[in-house]
Amino acid sequence: MVIGHLSFAMATIGVLALQGDFREHRRVLEDLGVAAPEVRLPGDLEGVDGLIIPGGESTTISRLLRTSHLLEPLRKLAGDGFPLWGTCAGMILLAKRLDETGIPALEAMDIGVRRNAFGRQVDSFEADLQVAVLGDPLYRAVFIRAPIIEDVGPAVEVLARLPDGTPVAARQGRLLATAFHPELTSDSRFHRFFLEQIARQT
Ligand code: GLN
Repeated sequence: MVIGHLSFAMATIGVLALQGDFREHRRVLEDLGVAAPEVRLPGDLEGVDGLIIPGGESTTISRLLRTSHLLEPLRKLAGDGFPLWGTCAGMILLAKRLDETGIPALEAMDIGVRRNAFGRQVDSFEADLQVAVLGDPLYRAVFIRAPIIEDVGPAVEVLARLPDGTPVAARQGRLLATAFHPELTSDSRFHRFFLEQIARQT
């Protein structure tokens, strides 16, 4: 990472706190010196420079996005180029195309996503990923009932693949999606990458 701690310590990154492992994301951000307020209502989006949508249960988060009146404001922000990062269930909620219907989401990122793509046998696993934008060493990724990226549009850059070639991390402009859980390991390079993108573009 070229950009160090100080350049993004001024950032305020909201963490969607409706359901799922938002506390873990907040802890990583705060360890990096970044303010990480919980976002539960539209007013909580004021003053944040970006938003993380955590892992959890995408159907539940989708329902709560609607009942807390966050779905429309977030759709609009995503369309306006606001930085968003979805991890696992969060990635499902960022996708324009889903293998299932009936999960109203942000439809922000030009990716097709399949939920629970690894089935029951391999519910959870870890894999060492080569992620060029993070450099060395390999990135140990934790997958929990994870989705995969099935197709990507022309504006999307795949950042990481499983050994069989399946894309599991991607970005499109200021949108970042990871099928795994960077908040559950002590390696904060993905969080720093998200912050670095925001610091560069503002
Ligand atoms: N399987 C969950 C879903 O479909 C995602 C799992 C996760 O976020 N760890 O929403």
